[in-house]
Amino acid sequence: MPRTKWDSHLARAIYYERSAIVESKLLNFNHQEDRLIFAKMIKRLCALPLEDLGFAPNLEADFIKNPASLLEAMKLPEQKDTTGPPSSEIFDLCQGSSFTFPYKDDQTRTVRLKRVIFRSNSIIGRGTTVIRVECACCNCPSNRCDWKNKKLVLKMSFPSKTRVSERTFMDRCKELAQGEYAWVSNHLPDLIWSFDIPFRDGSPQANLGEKFKDYEMRVMRGVILEELKPLSSLKTARECAQVFYDIVQCEFSIYIKRSHFSSNGLSISGHHWVWKYPRILHRDISQGNIMVREKNGKKYGVLNDWDLAIWLDDKRDGPTSQFRTGTKPYMAHEQHSVEWKGPHRYRHDLESIFYVMLLLVCLYSRPDEKLRRYKNQSYQYQEWHQSDDRSLYLEKHHTIRADDWEPPVTTFFFGFLLWLSRLQDSFRSGLIDRGNFHRAVRKTAQLDRSHTQMNFYDEDTLGGHLSYEGIVSIVHVFEEEELETRGREWQLHLDNLRQKQVG
Ligand SMILES: [Zn+2]
Repeated sequence: MPRTKWDSHLARAIYYERSAIVESKLLNFNHQEDRLIFAKMIKRLCALPLEDLGFAPNLEADFIKNPASLLEAMKLPEQKDTTGPPSSEIFDLCQGSSFTFPYKDDQTRTVRLKRVIFRSNSIIGRGTTVIRVECACCNCPSNRCDWKNKKLVLKMSFPSKTRVSERTFMDRCKELAQGEYAWVSNHLPDLIWSFDIPFRDGSPQANLGEKFKDYEMRVMRGVILEELKPLSSLKTARECAQVFYDIVQCEFSIYIKRSHFSSNGLSISGHHWVWKYPRILHRDISQGNIMVREKNGKKYGVLNDWDLAIWLDDKRDGPTSQFRTGTKPYMAHEQHSVEWKGPHRYRHDLESIFYVMLLLVCLYSRPDEKLRRYKNQSYQYQEWHQSDDRSLYLEKHHTIRADDWEPPVTTFFFGFLLWLSRLQDSFRSGLIDRGNFHRAVRKTAQLDRSHTQMNFYDEDTLGGHLSYEGIVSIVHVFEEEELETRGREWQLHLDNLRQKQVG
């Protein structure tokens, strides 16, 4: 999006888009030559073809042809008080627009855009937008549209060209979620169609890519998905607890490690090892990515949005912009530290789940109702949505390391207090352990330089404090009643534990 920045008679033309910001030199409008340069730049920008000006190729929206309609841009109710670039309002003008994308057998398919249901908090085109859509039925045989009875959304994002697609991760999971592991599919998004639209040769993106070596080439990536329900659709604290337990189960089944099975004498028969876990880390667990699927009258927690996922065994973190990923209030505390250099681990995702839970049960009086603010009153954790990395690091470090920690859980969510205390205790003990371990390593190294090799320390589970068995033993029961354990091997495992307790 081209823009100009004014400072009396001095100005710079700024062109910003997904990967780069290009600034002109400082122009002085008292000089005729500078005025001419400026006019030429505006002229060139206006001459760009529609697909280069629009933020999504193939989008037929009124405002592109008739920019005057932009003046009527409206804000979403939840954004009434925010200030930001006007581009953040554009999508609301697209209701009723049609969007065409590549489909099977070199065909195209067209959908009509309805309401925007999610937009990440950034300039359009950098973040993700999710829009409710319906088939425009341009090429559908009459009355036989295969998308007719489906509630669909279109998710648009503009990732780096080399970024592995969510589709690839989900295909791998679905391929493995067979037989007694079929339950895993209930907890993953259902991707109906996906496509990439690259920027054409000669587009500004392609030109910038040629000119600057480190320019990140991107594609427009679209996914058509079944619409899921948000956490706010849940009715009881117990339903919320089940959804969180589902997320823990789903996550773990996706990147399980054999070593996690070694403790506690888990007795499962040999054929379970045949299951090859996909070994994927999600890396962006947030309140918005934990969704609910209703199927045959039952509700399932779904871990959505695998856009930032990585293969666990591929430690290259990809483009630098992807190194520190996540949604700020929910990122693991370490990730806010400038000293943190990766890698992203299983326990970081687990810490994110912990924060999603914490913020929900302390800032909401019901799943669909935020605590009301009276005058200047503020609630603990409320400012996490606006804080910078430094404050978040300190706040979270304090939260997770505190002795006798007791979060201000609202009455509705009171049952979560026990979960949170026990989880916090696991993190706290693990981190203390880890500190001791590293101190011991340093000491040994100082005493005897030849003996720096210490015992292995399991960073993934903080020395076993965050083992899956440990976490499941906390979250499989809510308010003294068992929740549903989905996987057969874990049902057996819990049976064993129960027998041990009885015997
Ligand atoms: Zn149709």
